[in-house]
Amino acid sequence: MSKAKETVLEIDFNALTHNFNYLKSKLQPQTKFLAVVKAFAYGSDAVEIAKHLQKIGIDYFAVAYVREGVALRDAGITTPILVLHPQSINFKTLIERCLEPSLYSAHVLDEFIKTAEDLSQKNYPVHIKFNTGLNRLGFDQKDRETMVSKLGSTTAVKVKSIFSHLAASEDLNENDFTEQQIETFKSIAETFKTQSGTAPWLHLCNTSGILNYPEAHFNMVRSGIGLYGFGNSEEEDKNFKPIASLKSVVSQIHEIDKGKSVGYNRAHISDRNERVATIPIGHADGLSRVYGNKKGFVFINGEKAYIIGNVCMDMIMVDVTDINCKEGDEVIIFDKVHTASEIAESAGSISYEILTALSKRIKRNFLP
Ligand SMILES: *Cc1c(COP(=O)(O)O)cnc(C)c1O
Repeated sequence: MSKAKETVLEIDFNALTHNFNYLKSKLQPQTKFLAVVKAFAYGSDAVEIAKHLQKIGIDYFAVAYVREGVALRDAGITTPILVLHPQSINFKTLIERCLEPSLYSAHVLDEFIKTAEDLSQKNYPVHIKFNTGLNRLGFDQKDRETMVSKLGSTTAVKVKSIFSHLAASEDLNENDFTEQQIETFKSIAETFKTQSGTAPWLHLCNTSGILNYPEAHFNMVRSGIGLYGFGNSEEEDKNFKPIASLKSVVSQIHEIDKGKSVGYNRAHISDRNERVATIPIGHADGLSRVYGNKKGFVFINGEKAYIIGNVCMDMIMVDVTDINCKEGDEVIIFDKVHTASEIAESAGSISYEILTALSKRIKRNFLP
């Protein structure tokens, strides 16, 4: 692998295959695997990731919004795509592009049935989302009867699955809460089946749910962060391989005297003679200002260099006083060793946020 000479996000497909196989090894052979590729596949590249996953046998994809699903269809992805949070203004497009909506409230259910009927659909596949405690999206238990009767009064749609989402599957201190969500989901599903006389698939688990609640895999699981290489715990992280490495390069090095300032607002004042390296990545690339002022860091020739002063739009400056380095040297923001979790946690964030924030401006390089 050649050294970075500009800011690049390297995506390792072998690592993706590894994570897929590891998660699969946790499932019963008949359990289906949905890959969550929303937010550009957590910042990597949804199209390339989906193409690879389609090749290695994924059963389903999920995105958050219709536009994301359309982009996958435009790229030739033929696997079914669940849209987790569609808005009714996009329902016509959704149907035209063979995307499958999550219907989460009486309002969206009505709107969707109307659109499906207007477009003369028969048995269009839909997924019913239940709220079991996250209190974000989903029908509540009390809405069930009206929902079942609305569904029963049309032939335009057919419920392919019913699902819910866990609030704290990674946190074993919240085990009781999660067990309660699982029980609530089971009881909702049973009553739904009885009342509707249909047998849709059930699914509940995200990555941490897959790992921590094998009894709740039902017919399908939904993994995002695990595919991208994080297990949401120190123990599990060891079994995954981060697929994305963010690398850059030292553009310039300044030698500054004690008492001089660095960057906008003179936020850093040196308390000794310092060597300061400038690196071509900034908040416009998704490296948030919260990493400035010695919260965040990068690695140069294996040594940790703290970000000093404010993060600029296109650049950061790091302290390399004690580091043997020169202009043109490679910079690691995160990789498989110094992970995205590590830098994210330095500023009270999580891997999900730093990965999904990486802007389109950063070049993506794909390793075979
Ligand atoms: C984002 C999302 C997931 C994926 O969660 P991970 O923790 O990344 O595995 C699964 N289900 C729903 C409903 C989601 O919104």
